[in-house]
Amino acid sequence: MIPRTVPTWQIKSWQDELKELIQDPKTLIDRLQLGSEWLEPAIQASAHFPLRLTESYLSRIRPGDPGDPLLLQVLPLGAELIASPDYIDDPLEEHRFTPVPGLVHKYRSRVLLIAATQCAINCRYCFRRHFPYDDHQLSRPEWQQALDYVRSTPEVNEVILSGGDPLSLGDKQLAWLAQQIAGIDHIKRLRIHTRYPIILPSRLTPDLVEAIRHPRLRTLLVMHCNHPQEIDQSVIDGLNTLREGGIQLFNQTVLLKNINDNSRILATLSENLFDAGVLPYYLHLLDKVQGAAHFAVNDADAKTLYGELLTLLPGFLVPRLVRETPHEGSKTPVLPI
Ligand code: SF4
Repeated sequence: MIPRTVPTWQIKSWQDELKELIQDPKTLIDRLQLGSEWLEPAIQASAHFPLRLTESYLSRIRPGDPGDPLLLQVLPLGAELIASPDYIDDPLEEHRFTPVPGLVHKYRSRVLLIAATQCAINCRYCFRRHFPYDDHQLSRPEWQQALDYVRSTPEVNEVILSGGDPLSLGDKQLAWLAQQIAGIDHIKRLRIHTRYPIILPSRLTPDLVEAIRHPRLRTLLVMHCNHPQEIDQSVIDGLNTLREGGIQLFNQTVLLKNINDNSRILATLSENLFDAGVLPYYLHLLDKVQGAAHFAVNDADAKTLYGELLTLLPGFLVPRLVRETPHEGSKTPVLPI
């Protein structure tokens, strides 16, 4: 008999949870007891970039609080429909760095594979919110084409699985990919960029660890967490499974207005991540994607906040403040005032 206090999502498989994503704005607004004035803008904005979130993530949002920092990351707003100068559909110009479908080669020593075309959540600020995923849905021969590109590019020593979210793939597909990548002599590391540890921690199983590890590769997982409220016991338990399986864990955060643009919140986030065995890695300025301008923190405020953060944390817990610029050979550090 399952104790009544265990929420339903905690006793379901991750595949079942994925089938029950919240995608209807009215459901979200009703479940969180928000006013009806949020509904029409949410319907309009989600027609352009659909609403998606998991029950697990929903359980960490405070009902009745339209300013909740987790809600603000997922609730479609009318502000997304206002065109903003300098904000474009492909702010990183990834289409210029796509030599074969499904593969982005921007930085010399690593390539990024668009391993999956969907996420279990749609973050409203996502820089790939307009990404033409349909053009990157790969068949097996196209996967081979992408892997052949890696094979014929010896300066690449690291493959990054991204998307969409690569952990949307099943374990068998991930294991196949890891094996293919491990078969390329010059590849040393497999890196996985994912938000699943935060949005669907039940995805973090020993079977997943088995699938993504290979004796010839170092496996790193870079998760995406923006606020301390996103980390609860289910997240900590999932991360433990990964750590115990020998996966090295890092985090990247996007600096978001009215969500985490506060040095004390960011300091708590770093402390809590480290307690969970995760090293804070990057603090990204927002990529200027159309529909997300209301999340932007200006450079001066970001630098001031970062200067404060330096005084609140030991150096190893301070993520690097960076911005991504389309034609630079690396991320660009942003230094404090
Ligand atoms: S999880 Fe990452 S890729 Fe998916 S919507 Fe959020 S920011 Fe975008």
